[in-house]
Amino acid sequence: MSFADEIVRYPVEQILEQMSTTTASRVEQVLAAERINERDLITLLSPAAEPYIEAMAQKAHQITRQRFGNTIQLYTPMYLSNECNNGCKYCGFNAKNNIPRVTLTPAEIEQEALAIRNYGFRSILLLTGEHPKKADNNYLAAAVKQIRPLFSSISIEVYPMDTEGYQQMVAAGVDGLTIYQETYDRDLYKQLHPFGKKSDYTWRIEAPDRAGQAGLRRIGVGALLGLGPFATEAFYTGFHAYYLARHYWRSQVSISFPRIRPADGGFAPINPVSDKQLVQMVCAMRLLIPDAGLFLSTRENAKLRDSLMRLGITHMSAGSCTAPGGHANKGEHTEQFVIDDDRTPEQMSAMIRAQGYEAVWKDWDSAFLNASAV
Ligand code: SF4
Repeated sequence: MSFADEIVRYPVEQILEQMSTTTASRVEQVLAAERINERDLITLLSPAAEPYIEAMAQKAHQITRQRFGNTIQLYTPMYLSNECNNGCKYCGFNAKNNIPRVTLTPAEIEQEALAIRNYGFRSILLLTGEHPKKADNNYLAAAVKQIRPLFSSISIEVYPMDTEGYQQMVAAGVDGLTIYQETYDRDLYKQLHPFGKKSDYTWRIEAPDRAGQAGLRRIGVGALLGLGPFATEAFYTGFHAYYLARHYWRSQVSISFPRIRPADGGFAPINPVSDKQLVQMVCAMRLLIPDAGLFLSTRENAKLRDSLMRLGITHMSAGSCTAPGGHANKGEHTEQFVIDDDRTPEQMSAMIRAQGYEAVWKDWDSAFLNASAV
């Protein structure tokens, strides 16, 4: 049993039908409920819920304050490699793009990790493309072990692994996994991932299940917003996270909201997502899973990030660079995509304080679980 078996319970036509027939009184009923489920999520993402976004935002804010206090956790991505055998049409690292390819050596990893630690971060996200000859499980595990003394929390956002691979990551010191399905629409997925291992939809959608079975402490999902139609992508993302939270209760579930950004190759969003839709989605996710970590990256502009912080977001990246080695050697390498919020970690921290929140540089769960961590 995996999420691939669950998702078929909600065909697109059924979701759209339910969304189009939802009424204002049904929205009010869901907003008044203590706990909601995936069927209620359809209601919150429907056009009938649009006039209620303010009410949703207030409730999301209140729940987030209760569960997470006045804190925003900061993290930053570190790209280890931009080598990739896949052909994702929206990505600057697509195998067909003629860009300089880099895989960091242990010395470069050390330099990059120290640069990130010197900003103040103790929580880091490691990324690679998918290239088993250049950056495989052993390479990744060695990198994690190497930088483990510098960070209290290490997450990965890499190619899907089998269960043994995730167990190897846990043993090396990884505590979190982020993996985006990109789009939950099988046909669109096939068009956008024409070759390479990533063209296997089922292998990817089942990866969070394998991570849960392997004991990863945090599992994050998301859709790349701007690919499939907003309403169904938002629903399946929330349903996926909700399913994981129920099946792998030892893991904390998180949701990210990546909207497509300009990248080498010039891909334009197929179904652009508006700011209003993004707000509706963030609030709906908070109402569905009160304990979920909600991540917002520097893909979004400063103004929007500052306002979404108050509506349920718990984790924000800062000082991001999407090129391997880009923290230690700025401007030397090709980026995966262009970021929109280029404030420094200090500026982000000051903004968070100015809004009455506390910026947390260290993952509180791992600090609690592992008193010997940095
Ligand atoms: S999204 Fe990931 S897998 Fe796809 S081309 Fe880019 S780096 Fe490779």
